[in-house]
Amino acid sequence: MKKVILFLIDSMMPDVLERCIAAKKAPGLQFLMERSQYIPDCVTVFPTMTASIDCSLITGVYPDVHKIPGLVWYDTETQQMINYINGAIPVQKMGITSCASNVLFDLNERHLSKNVKTIHEVLEENNLVSGSINVIAHRGHKKHKVHMPPMLDALTSFQLREKVSGPTLMSMGTLVRPQLFRSVTWDMSQTVLKGYGINDAYAIDLLIEVIRSGKQPHFTLVYLPENDHKLHKSPHDAVSHLADVDRELVRFLDSFSSWEQMLERNVCILISDHGQTVIGEGEEHNISLNHLLSGFSIHALGKAVTQDVDVVICNNERMSYLYAKDANTLHKIVEAVTVDERIDLIAWRENEKVIVRRGGSTESLHFWRDGIYPDAYGATWGIEGDVSVLDVHFDGEQLHFDTYPDAFSRLYGALFSQSGDVVVITAAKGYEILSESAPTHLGGGSHGSLHKQDSLIPLLIAGAAHQFNLPARLIDVKDFILRELGIAAVPDQR
Ligand SMILES: [Zn+2]
Repeated sequence: MKKVILFLIDSMMPDVLERCIAAKKAPGLQFLMERSQYIPDCVTVFPTMTASIDCSLITGVYPDVHKIPGLVWYDTETQQMINYINGAIPVQKMGITSCASNVLFDLNERHLSKNVKTIHEVLEENNLVSGSINVIAHRGHKKHKVHMPPMLDALTSFQLREKVSGPTLMSMGTLVRPQLFRSVTWDMSQTVLKGYGINDAYAIDLLIEVIRSGKQPHFTLVYLPENDHKLHKSPHDAVSHLADVDRELVRFLDSFSSWEQMLERNVCILISDHGQTVIGEGEEHNISLNHLLSGFSIHALGKAVTQDVDVVICNNERMSYLYAKDANTLHKIVEAVTVDERIDLIAWRENEKVIVRRGGSTESLHFWRDGIYPDAYGATWGIEGDVSVLDVHFDGEQLHFDTYPDAFSRLYGALFSQSGDVVVITAAKGYEILSESAPTHLGGGSHGSLHKQDSLIPLLIAGAAHQFNLPARLIDVKDFILRELGIAAVPDQR
């Protein structure tokens, strides 16, 4: 049986991939593309942020089922803000101990729903070996010790005595190292400047080493983060950033006696997590929530959420969750954000229904599950109101989404990922949401929204026995891989 390797390339976009290959700057990607089922419009998860997407990739479900709402969210039960590390300043304010523990331990062991199984869990229950290289969502049946770097340890008094779980082969940079890789000499790629080994070169080094050792798992998921960091800073150099990723992929291909040999032995899948949208340069491209919500008592980062707090803001770049103190406050917040046309979508829950509006308009669309209108993915929906709010069309047989791919399931996925009175807002094209200490990218790239620019990702499948079903979604990759490895899909766990 062939092994399966899945490369997750952060912020790889279909048009950039195609331009990079056309410009002959990506021989590795070109080799794979020419032997692939290429899907340029695979739909990712909303919010279009790595944390919620990674969880969907390994569980095959949207956040309403796996329960990781985003990169930054508020746990209404423990009254704590959860940040899987987005920017240095919020980390300073919330405390590195809390953020590091959120990302290293809580995400996998506490927050990720126990009612779903990760691909690693399913594979290892079926006596196959699974591997995860530098992916923050990695829950599995094996326990691994965390090695905090001495610097970080001293700085924070952070001591993670608990072990983290993962598949048999498990890496989180230099913090969790697979056994066979512990003897490797220390180099630049493992320093704090390079994210403690959470970088492309280290991930590829490790993958090559694992294959050479003869201990390659049946399935290995490899995360390559650097394209995202570079795009945030200089989105106009997108082709050259992806060419850098290609150089790493070529190192991997060159580790075989021929590139063809790699495909004889492996199914090689490449996917992205989300796209990016270029943000305008002027200050007005930051939508200030402090300004829009000036009539409310806004929670201050790092402080307790006391009785007098009206709203807790959890900023996910081009998307935010606004947690209201009660239903009455929620409606006032909706009215306050509706006045701004730079806000693209405003959505909230009313019992089992989702209500959506656009900034600058009071027209609304209501939708709910199990109605009479089928979508292309097998779900059915009830609809009331103005369908143009989400650019939805019904052709007499099926619902079609264009501007907001798989809009109903994905908005539903975000709003029903937790309980409480929460409003979801997204920024219009070219804009980003500004709140206390959130990282901003004026003149740079950003993501998080439901719009197709942030939401459509390329999917390349080379050397597989099966065809991927269309229309493609990131949440369907898990079952595809299980099928390639001879395991029937696990029945729906909802
Ligand atoms: Zn990013």
